[in-house]
Amino acid sequence: MVGMQVVVTACDESGNVDMADLKAKCEQHSGQLAAVMITYPSTHGVFETQVKDLCALVHQHGGRVYVDGANMNALVGVAAPGEFGGDVSHLNLHKTFCIPHGGGGPGVGPVCVVEDLVPFLPGHNAGGLTVAEGGVGAVSAAPLGNAAVLPISWMYIRMMGADGLKQATEAAILAANYISVRLKDHYPTLYASVGEDGKPGHVAHECILDLRHFKETSGVMAEDVAKRLMDYGFHAPTLSFPVANTLMVEPTESETLAELDRFIDAMIAIREEIRQVEAGHWPQDDNPLKHAPHTAASLLQGEWTRAYPREVGAAMNPGGKGRVGNKYWPPVGRIDNVHGDRNLFCSCVPVSDYA
Ligand SMILES: *Cc1c(COP(=O)(O)O)cnc(C)c1O
Repeated sequence: MVGMQVVVTACDESGNVDMADLKAKCEQHSGQLAAVMITYPSTHGVFETQVKDLCALVHQHGGRVYVDGANMNALVGVAAPGEFGGDVSHLNLHKTFCIPHGGGGPGVGPVCVVEDLVPFLPGHNAGGLTVAEGGVGAVSAAPLGNAAVLPISWMYIRMMGADGLKQATEAAILAANYISVRLKDHYPTLYASVGEDGKPGHVAHECILDLRHFKETSGVMAEDVAKRLMDYGFHAPTLSFPVANTLMVEPTESETLAELDRFIDAMIAIREEIRQVEAGHWPQDDNPLKHAPHTAASLLQGEWTRAYPREVGAAMNPGGKGRVGNKYWPPVGRIDNVHGDRNLFCSCVPVSDYA
């Protein structure tokens, strides 16, 4: 942190940066203000309309704006951080530029800066690179970091072309808004921009589906819905982040309309199951959600004693008409996530076994 301190700023009830609070904090720390870090569009899935004012305010107090590049999927070809006031961005190549995301990921990505910060970029004494006078020197052992990853993003950009990249951004935003609107009567979207008429407007490239009220009405938690989605043949979207007991859906540009519809149909079917619990037809602790996911063995073996039929448990017709042939069978039933997280053990053989 090179001696710097983090000052946390507030959000308003719509999840946006509280501009009055930010202004007060900027004034209070004006003499020491180094930078603000923002995510745009924000992690609550909204293009915050005051982003230009925010950048101008921080600049006015001598600070810089770091725009987290994690959500470039909603910006590429449409808006440039440098144009709305960003001074620095890193582009997580595994978020927007075609690098597989997961398992810790091959972390590499360019850090982009405005012109007057160029002299401060990292350099290296190897690989034909240099360290600029006053520059920070090397930040990784290899001159270009995990360079083998870069050609993938380069090829992606070349093959998509400028128009293709813009189209991908538009499709990603459209897909998220499509899901948000089609599910609104079943799972309201928690945050949206405020439209010109003062009513909730659009989301960016992701939407947070609010499931929190089901705890009260049916005992169903977002985790139960996430597990139940496995029976319907889906890996669940982001669970309980950034808001506990919600699902954040980020479809990206990659999914076809048919796949989006299949997901929406599954979510609506699960909402109907929640209604059965709400109506008292199934007990809160014995229903297809609490017992999800259902392995083939759990449905076929032994006597069936649950409050709902076997075929309901199996979700035999995920996403509607004619999809039975594509039924996915989860290999493992419900696990206790929290227990697993707290009881780590090493599954490797002891070193002595190699002797
Ligand atoms: C994914 C994400 C990160 C983390 O980025 P990594 O490069 O995967 O470490 C940070 N901020 C936001 C908003 C993200 O979505």
